[in-house]
Amino acid sequence: ETIDLTHLLNEIAVMFQRKAEEKGIDFRLHVAKSIYMEGDANRIKQIFINLITNALTYTPKGGKVEVIAEEKDEETLVHVKDTGIGIEEAEIPRIFERFYRVDKARSRHSGGTGLGLAIVKHLVEAHHGHITVKSAVGKGTTFTVHFPKRMRPDE
Ligand code: ATP
Ligand code: MG
Repeated sequence: ETIDLTHLLNEIAVMFQRKAEEKGIDFRLHVAKSIYMEGDANRIKQIFINLITNALTYTPKGGKVEVIAEEKDEETLVHVKDTGIGIEEAEIPRIFERFYRVDKARSRHSGGTGLGLAIVKHLVEAHHGHITVKSAVGKGTTFTVHFPKRMRPDE
């Protein structure tokens, strides 16, 4: 199924706008043009719901969360960028494991189970993509989902 990723991200942004406002977080979506991809709309939604939920959960009041979608070279990229607590470099390889939660998050009683990112990784890979993370403790985190660009029909 061909998905209008721009439209899908707009719908999700509407869902999260109020939650962000309640938490005092500046939440923004940036997509310059229409981006289409092949995939399952509900699964693609789940990827971004999980990533944005994390960004809002692990970012304190006054912070900023941005979702940026772009086409670059042979990929469609979606960045979910926050100014939150960050993740220690040594923890990064483990956060995609089921039930894994970084200590700081666990002690914050934020109530998660540690499944969100394991599901994200599974769903991204099911769409022939991968996910990368950049983070600085105390400064913030950016998760980037890389999807292969939709091939032209004659390719
Ligand atoms: P669940 O998503 O199942 O409700 P969770 O959010 O703890 O629980 P994951 O989404 O899998 O689980 O994330 C795993 C851990 O990675 C989190 O507990 C947290 O320590 C860390 N983490 C994830 N996203 C961020 C982020 N944006 N900023 C800082 N830490 C993060
Ligand atoms: Mg989560």
